[in-house]
Amino acid sequence: MGNVPLCGEREVNVAIRRARKAAAAWVSVPPDRRAKVFERFHDLVLDRQDEILDIVQLETGKARPHAFEEVADVAVTTGYYAARAPSLLNQKRRRGLVPGLTRVTEVRVPHGVVGVIAPWNYPLSLAATDSVPALLAGNAVVLKPDLQTTHTALWIAERLQEAGLPDDLFVVVSGTGPEAGAALVDAADYVSFTGSTATGRTVGARAARRLIGASLELGGKNAMIVRGDADLARAVDGALRGAFTNAGQLCIAIERLYVHRSLHDAFLDRFVARTAALRLGTGLDWGYDIGSLASAAQLEKVSEHVRDAISKGATVRAGGRGRPDIGPFYFEPTVLTGVTPEMKVCAEETFGPVVALRPFETDEEAIALANDSPYGLNASVWGRDRRATLALARRLEAGTVNVNDAYIAAWGSVDAPMGGTKDSGVGRRHGSEGLLKYTESRSVAEQRGPAVALGGAWLSRPGARRVAAALLRATRRIPGLR
Ligand code: NAD
Repeated sequence: MGNVPLCGEREVNVAIRRARKAAAAWVSVPPDRRAKVFERFHDLVLDRQDEILDIVQLETGKARPHAFEEVADVAVTTGYYAARAPSLLNQKRRRGLVPGLTRVTEVRVPHGVVGVIAPWNYPLSLAATDSVPALLAGNAVVLKPDLQTTHTALWIAERLQEAGLPDDLFVVVSGTGPEAGAALVDAADYVSFTGSTATGRTVGARAARRLIGASLELGGKNAMIVRGDADLARAVDGALRGAFTNAGQLCIAIERLYVHRSLHDAFLDRFVARTAALRLGTGLDWGYDIGSLASAAQLEKVSEHVRDAISKGATVRAGGRGRPDIGPFYFEPTVLTGVTPEMKVCAEETFGPVVALRPFETDEEAIALANDSPYGLNASVWGRDRRATLALARRLEAGTVNVNDAYIAAWGSVDAPMGGTKDSGVGRRHGSEGLLKYTESRSVAEQRGPAVALGGAWLSRPGARRVAAALLRATRRIPGLR
């Protein structure tokens, strides 16, 4: 699409210095005035969506409806934080040690410069929705996007500037992960990383050496469970969206489908027929259901997972092949059955349009199958019996669980936290956690009246000690005091 500079440690450090200077002024702008910038940014993204839809499609090869998901996500998340950040960042009164005499206020202080490291799969959404709350919290952001999607990041920077964000508060550094990414972890005051589990471990360890905080949003191998009482047609629709959105290159995409034995055959027939009918292609219009994979490396990984599964006895029910006749990195949406634990596609994240389907007999078995994964990012459960379906949902080891939906219900409900358990990450985006992680707490305790002396001469007197112990006992019994 164009040339971008390859930044290394020197350029990253220059960006950090500029950002740190800008942050020092930004911190004294009240949060409700900061929010105005993001209200304008929200509107600009929606007004100029055609521009960014083209750029995202050109950089990633995704179909237009999936690029629009990114625009919608940025609008929903930015709108939410612009409205909520001022009250979430307000100082809060906390209960003091001595009622009436110790006054405690919790103040929220920004870290300074937040390093945001983003992947290529949702380049608009992930770069913007992690940066917006960091900026609203009073930080500057240095963003390192994936090298393949730098123009999307630069478009975000232009829109923020147009919305009135002061200079140098949002700086983009283009470069490779091991150089620019590592340099950013070495110089930022907090790191917000989204990417693979392998890289997340490296980034987390590097941040830990500097004793800075990091949130790590990592990979998934997400399961969908279809109970015997589920609405078949709706569940098949959900599975199609869950497995094949963005050609499966979505961290919360469904890669494992467990269907109750009583519905299994009907589900499989319908799902395979609908999968085979999906329209493959990427025009800058709304005419396709599935776009290209993003790169040769992605095509190789997805092909290898399917080859490996076939060689070990899996059956291809739909798809299963690359489609160079459509474009160099296209791969057909693929449904496999007969997948067993020694196959790569069973345990590892494929990150492509490949889903494995198998039957189950009881809810207990479905829960055990779904939880039998090192990952714990997203899950989905379908059923008509609300109580039983919700009870099952609550036992799934994942940061988000969607009921009668594949992934959008939880992703789009930005008032609730979202993130990974187990190997899927540390920390949360969305909700109050997604904003407050970009701050430190500072507790200011003001003591009035007599000094509280819990040691020394006063307590060496037996009478005084008895009074202190009696007070401690009494306060535990007074509701609301402890
Ligand atoms: P990746 O880990 O290869 O790269 C992610 C980012 O990290 C890129 O910007 C890359 O340049 C940078 N990077 C690479 N090495 C680095 C290093 N040593 N130090 C610092 N930065 C480094 O991941 P990817 O292949 O680009 O993205 C796909 C992965 O991301 C999948 O596993 C997917 O599940 C995951 N993902 C997770 C979420 C989530 O919210 N949990 C969202 C999207 C994608």
